[in-house]
Amino acid sequence: MRNAERGTRNSRESSSRGEDLALLLRVPTSAFRVLLLLLLASRAEAQVDPSGTWRTLHTPHFRIHFRPAYRDAALLEAREAERSYGLLATELHPPRGVVDITLADDIDAANGLTTVAPTNRITIFAAPPAGDHGLLFFDNWLRLVTTHELAHVFHLDRSRGLWNGLQRVFGRAPGLFPNEYQPSWVTEGLATYYESKFTNAGRVRGSLHTQLLGADRAVGASRSPWNATLFTRWADGLVPYAYGSRFLHYLAGAVGDSVVPRFAEATSAQLIPFRVGRQVARVAPGHTLDREWPRGTAPDLAGTSAAPPAARVLDSLLRTECRACRRMDDEWRTCGTTGRGRACCACSTRQRDARWPPTA
Ligand SMILES: [Zn+2]
Repeated sequence: MRNAERGTRNSRESSSRGEDLALLLRVPTSAFRVLLLLLLASRAEAQVDPSGTWRTLHTPHFRIHFRPAYRDAALLEAREAERSYGLLATELHPPRGVVDITLADDIDAANGLTTVAPTNRITIFAAPPAGDHGLLFFDNWLRLVTTHELAHVFHLDRSRGLWNGLQRVFGRAPGLFPNEYQPSWVTEGLATYYESKFTNAGRVRGSLHTQLLGADRAVGASRSPWNATLFTRWADGLVPYAYGSRFLHYLAGAVGDSVVPRFAEATSAQLIPFRVGRQVARVAPGHTLDREWPRGTAPDLAGTSAAPPAARVLDSLLRTECRACRRMDDEWRTCGTTGRGRACCACSTRQRDARWPPTA
């Protein structure tokens, strides 16, 4: 299940047991978080209240499910969905079957969810983003979220080779979709890349991701392809969206637009489904993932939101570090939930005066 956006996560962690224990707990904690995410994801979907009267609009490629009060929004969604489908089909292989879209506004949150098993289904929370900084750059919320989620459907539904054979025998069972094994920066990066390419806004051109990459770069803590995934360090859930979309945007500029769809096709047929670097080298001859990644994720990448020189000062302060040990790695955990924006770290119980956000 893919979300349109995962915001930064605040967590509390005790530092009393010291650094060693934090290291020991890292793997089980990550496993717990994955389990927690799965539980939360199913709960989020369950938040669409099925009671009452529902209607369905049928279009060539979609069934739009909605409550009668939202007929106007559903008509708009039908147009946006067909528009996005037509644009995405110019690059990616169309998904199999009709796509179900449920239009909901049970919660005051802007988001979208996609699943491809057992059928292609999208849930869209229609409330436009009001306080989500990463999503504020949009021309039309339904257009952006629909393009993003539908890009997930195009990408994840694609199954070739052995995977297609397995699905013919076992059906559309979870675990038989090869592109779902790709790292999160590929899946979310590809959807964010297309939301930016096929709308007049999108997060590739938004300023928040530029600041995020700039902040990492300013303190020498830029992510690599091996750790630009969810549930690691700052900036947490925003990382795969920012790094992945910028890298694919760069690669398309350096090699040509067709490199992204060729990459999606290549990964949909590989026997070991989580490999990335091998397919990048195959679809972009003369380029390797390791060599192109630092260029592609540079904060001043052409065609993206430009940060003025003064913003570099802000970039360097966006990340805070523990004043006791000067460390800013996986032991660092923000806990800015006190209302005063304070942050603490796992390596010291005494030095908790690093501030988030910076107030200087
Ligand atoms: Zn997504």
